[in-house]
Amino acid sequence: MFGFEVKIDASWLVLAFIIIWSLAAGYFPSDYPGFSRSQYWLMGFLGAIGLFISIIIHEFCHSLVARKRGMKIGGITLFIFGGVSELEDQPESPKTEFLMAAAGPLASLLLSLIFYVLYQSFETLSPYSFTGIIFKYLATINLFLAIFNCLPGFPLDGGRMLRSILWARKKDILSATQTAARIGSMIGFILIVLGIFHLFTLHFVTGFWWIFMGLFLRGIALQSWADVLIRSALRDVPLEKFLDTTSQVLNPNSKLEEVLEERFYHHLTGVFPVVENGVLIGCLDSDTLLHLGPNERMSSTVREIMKDCADDQIVDIRESSLSVFSKLRRRSPSHVIVTDGLEFKGIVYLDSLIRYALLHARPDFQFPPEFYKMYHRPA
Ligand SMILES: [Zn+2]
Repeated sequence: MFGFEVKIDASWLVLAFIIIWSLAAGYFPSDYPGFSRSQYWLMGFLGAIGLFISIIIHEFCHSLVARKRGMKIGGITLFIFGGVSELEDQPESPKTEFLMAAAGPLASLLLSLIFYVLYQSFETLSPYSFTGIIFKYLATINLFLAIFNCLPGFPLDGGRMLRSILWARKKDILSATQTAARIGSMIGFILIVLGIFHLFTLHFVTGFWWIFMGLFLRGIALQSWADVLIRSALRDVPLEKFLDTTSQVLNPNSKLEEVLEERFYHHLTGVFPVVENGVLIGCLDSDTLLHLGPNERMSSTVREIMKDCADDQIVDIRESSLSVFSKLRRRSPSHVIVTDGLEFKGIVYLDSLIRYALLHARPDFQFPPEFYKMYHRPA
């Protein structure tokens, strides 16, 4: 849509179901009695569609401003807690960040006004009409979205605005992020407490919802905090520093049997580069090895079953450590093969980048306590 990729995560279906169900079986019947059951389900369905369109418009406005200010946008993803715009890099100025963050809640506020006007005009025609009730719900929920997103904790829009203001004032994005993320993690914590409180009053759906939402916010807040610290430590450090030249390289003429016996159990799983005369000629991933039949395993050589390396498995030696970190932190396996275009140079592991950052972060900053858990996942 408008040149942006809009993705729907499978978890979004859960959200869609919860919203339709809670509207059709809870909210609409208790506030507006007198309709038939099928009418309530239709209302719930239309209300949910209106809400999702509203969320997409909110995210679109973030993305449009970002694009206008020259930032790359990966796309918009709808998932269980609503929507996210994927930024490929950090905003380069406080002004860009502020405008980008403000665009979303502003859009929600505007949508709320539009739906309110629509509701009012239907209300004057006939009070408590089917359409009027849906518009009223959409006006309310958009107002809620605008207000909730303006809470001043990172990664919420309000937290981004706060960060940009602090950043502009002190010219220090690290300390600005640390403050905004700490507040974000606190807001997450408050949501968890409120969720537990809801459980005690037997509002289970709301309760669990808030608890998960709180955990999610807290997770992102802590992760973004750690991310800027790592980024600041890795800036201007050449990728060569992290090259591992020894461990996982395979010879194309090796028998698979040998590879399995001598290499496979002892090393990280993931992708093995196949190198001949110093040149990278292919890749062998551990999944392929695991799924070989017994005959193939006994008789084949590496050359026979290796594949061309995928684009995201290779990076150029001239790439910055920072950009490699951005690529690695989002995926598994958490290592890449480094070449100079042709010749094999080594492997870089996410772990090496993180360990370096831990030792070289600015001394006046702390990594969040959950740091190790966040980055420690199977290779
Ligand atoms: Zn937003």
